Amino acid sequence: MIPCAFPKKQYLPIEAEVLAAIRRVLDSGTYILGAEVAAFESEFAAYLGCEFAVGCGSGTDALVLALRTLGVGAGDEVIVPSHTATATIAAVAISGAKPVYVDIDPRYYTLDSKKIQALCNAKTKAIIAVHLYGQAADIEGALAVARSHGLRLIEDCAQATGATWRGCKLGTIGDVGCFSFFPTKNMGGYGDAGAIVCRDANLAARLRRLRQYGWDENRISTEPGINSRLDEMQAAILRVKLSYLDADNDSRRVQADRYTRELAGLPLILPTTRANAEHTYHLYVVRTSCRDELNYFLKQNDVLCGIHYAVPVHKMPAFSSSVALPETEDAVMEILSLPLFPGLTEGEQNQVISLIRHFFAGRKN
Ligand SMILES: *Cc1c(COP(=O)(O)O)cnc(C)c1O
Repeated sequence: MIPCAFPKKQYLPIEAEVLAAIRRVLDSGTYILGAEVAAFESEFAAYLGCEFAVGCGSGTDALVLALRTLGVGAGDEVIVPSHTATATIAAVAISGAKPVYVDIDPRYYTLDSKKIQALCNAKTKAIIAVHLYGQAADIEGALAVARSHGLRLIEDCAQATGATWRGCKLGTIGDVGCFSFFPTKNMGGYGDAGAIVCRDANLAARLRRLRQYGWDENRISTEPGINSRLDEMQAAILRVKLSYLDADNDSRRVQADRYTRELAGLPLILPTTRANAEHTYHLYVVRTSCRDELNYFLKQNDVLCGIHYAVPVHKMPAFSSSVALPETEDAVMEILSLPLFPGLTEGEQNQVISLIRHFFAGRKN
């Protein structure tokens, strides 16, 4: 069986280092907001080339804390793609603001910045640019609209840790960058974890207060906060994972390049990398009108693909909207995420490739 993602396979080669990190935390006697979190925050900020990183409980919480810190709440509107993880929209809803959905540019599956302007009104406070599948959204276009309308720009980097645009790490371009370290992400921990990064010292200080009941240094709540702390154990694990992030992303790119080479010429739309962007292939998403048949055929042959995402968030009962998003609605019927993860062997990848070729050869007859 070849899965779509396989975090345990990434764990085994670094098992000794991870276990040593966990033991170090257990031996330290400090389990919440101690030396490991502080060290991870400064190492992660340095890796991104950003002033501040603040650890928190998950990628969803990172977005919630970012929205609150930027003053987005009830009565406000946030422009966001519907073609994203449910988490992005759930975070907007938790903040009390209303998600206003923008359609995607089907070449990259990320927000179409040309369609943002028409959605702006007096209530609009922020745009969330989701760097989907491992590469940059049109951050230049989103930034231009944000500047001209006085909006905040939040980067959802949950799927693009380590990816760049014009040489800058994603997350460092907008007002804040939000990261998830869910186990299957490019830099996955072994539980829930997240982080927010920013360049502004005041924002960082407020993020630190809001992640812990709104406490100041004297443990007096100056404003209502939540409890969303990165724990010491995950921080220690993530310090190990950070040291492998570039190598893991390289391995994802090598696998993606092999798919792109070997699947060329088939009636499949393969991923396109945006100019000036460096893709980190959180997911390798292909597109075909016979997606369901191909997916079923691969499954019958023990290759498990994913669909990211089968139902766009604006079609889910909790977050539904009557807005029409034709590019999003077309794409979700045709997209398929092929197995790709550090540790996928060349032999396994060749198996996926030859099955896909076999599938299309069979259909021609
Ligand atoms: C995974 C993900 C999140 C949420 O992260 P969690 O850590 O699961 O809360 C947010 N946005 C996107 C695009 C994601 O892929």
